[in-house]
Amino acid sequence: MSNIVAIVGRPNVGKSTFFNRLVESRQAIVNETAGVTRDRNYGKSLWNGKEFSVIDTGGYVVNSDDVFEGEIRKQVALAIEEADVIMFVVDVEGGITDLDQAVSNILRRVEKPVFLVVNKVDNNQRVMEANEFYALGLGDKLYPISGMNGSGTGDLLDDVVAAFPKIEREEVEEGIPRFAVVGRPNVGKSSFINALTGVDRNIVTDIAGTTRDAINTRYNKYGHDFYLVDTAGLRKKAKVREDVEFYSVLRSVRAIEEADVCLVMIDATRGVEAQDVNIFNLALRNKKGVVLLVNKWDLMEKDNYSVKQFTETIHERIAPFTDVPIIFMSAMTKQRIFKALEVAVEVYQNKSQRVKTSTLNEVLLAAVEKYPPPALKGKFIKIKYVTQLPSPTPSFALFANLPQYIKDPYKRYIENQIRENFNFSGVPIQVFFRKK
Ligand code: GDP
Ligand code: GDP
Repeated sequence: MSNIVAIVGRPNVGKSTFFNRLVESRQAIVNETAGVTRDRNYGKSLWNGKEFSVIDTGGYVVNSDDVFEGEIRKQVALAIEEADVIMFVVDVEGGITDLDQAVSNILRRVEKPVFLVVNKVDNNQRVMEANEFYALGLGDKLYPISGMNGSGTGDLLDDVVAAFPKIEREEVEEGIPRFAVVGRPNVGKSSFINALTGVDRNIVTDIAGTTRDAINTRYNKYGHDFYLVDTAGLRKKAKVREDVEFYSVLRSVRAIEEADVCLVMIDATRGVEAQDVNIFNLALRNKKGVVLLVNKWDLMEKDNYSVKQFTETIHERIAPFTDVPIIFMSAMTKQRIFKALEVAVEVYQNKSQRVKTSTLNEVLLAAVEKYPPPALKGKFIKIKYVTQLPSPTPSFALFANLPQYIKDPYKRYIENQIRENFNFSGVPIQVFFRKK
């Protein structure tokens, strides 16, 4: 779980350029989970040993010069609600614009740390020009940077990570799974949670003053002990209208980060939409367990093939990671809602399991013998030993004489072998090749 930094600002000031610089170095590591396409607007970054999530809020709105002021306001309001720290980017070339003023007016009242970032300060001469932006009245420090060449970003990040609020962890008991129900607006998340817990979450009162603003409520229902992660974003529905698609993704970020297993809910009547896939990928990228809930199944006209067809459609959309349980359910009629819970618990167990090294070697070395990695440059590649690493999410290291020669298809073969022989359903796993 990490802090969240949101980048706000009007179009063309250089937000996405700066965002790319922030997440670039981390991307290689984060994308170890094979085939997960990267989100252009959400990524992980690391500075001074602190990992954090970065959201380019601008990337989710129409990026044109005549973008409505209302749109920017929503973008900023959401960043304020969801992020721990806000970076407000302005452009030294363009000077102060009306939109910059409008954003400043909102940010001046915010209690979270706000950093005024003056971008496109590519040379020393422009450092002077940057001072113009003190007129925005956002405190006594601004940060001239060049997102393009990187200058100034180190000083900025030093201060940003120092400003992270302490993550106030609620006391959660180890070994009890934490579930988050995520999905686009109106898919039926609240209905499902209400049906499951018998508590109307809309009347749950806010707990004031917690920095994380995420609440883990513990339940003991139907023979299972679990936490449901609830975030401010999920509770305060009306505050920002959720008609713009990206809000559902942004709102999901914190809930996903808090959870062990994400119950990604989609609406059967709408099929699988791009936004559903984004949320699914967000869970994978955070290496969380996943269960797919196809809700409102009661509204579907069904025949003997419906489940099979729907499953195939889902697999096409979420490939290559298709080893995910799918539950066809109805929050309204309560059909299979307990099954959903049960499967979520199973995925948690799959995610927590440690495979014995001896068993792992027995199975995988046999698989390697059957299909050895292809020789490269006249050299044989020998895999000698396999072990599951002591990491919080399932990771496997295969020790080889020439690990650098092993290509992605072979890595996928190994991952498939692991999945075939052990139950990692719903769990992203990582496979590394190391030198021995
Ligand atoms: P966004 O709309 O705020 O995400 O802005 P972009 O990142 O797409 O950048 C808008 C334009 O500004 C592009 O043409 C970038 O190449 C340019 N740009 C971004 N950062 C810098 C910078 O640090 N210096 C200069 N000179 N140009 C930049
Ligand atoms: P949320 O925004 O994801 O929390 O969605 P809600 O729980 O507020 O549900 C949105 C709408 O869908 C409401 O009108 C619900 O009554 C309806 N709904 C939720 N689940 C089901 C379901 O399984 N079947 C049917 N027919 N309607 C549902």
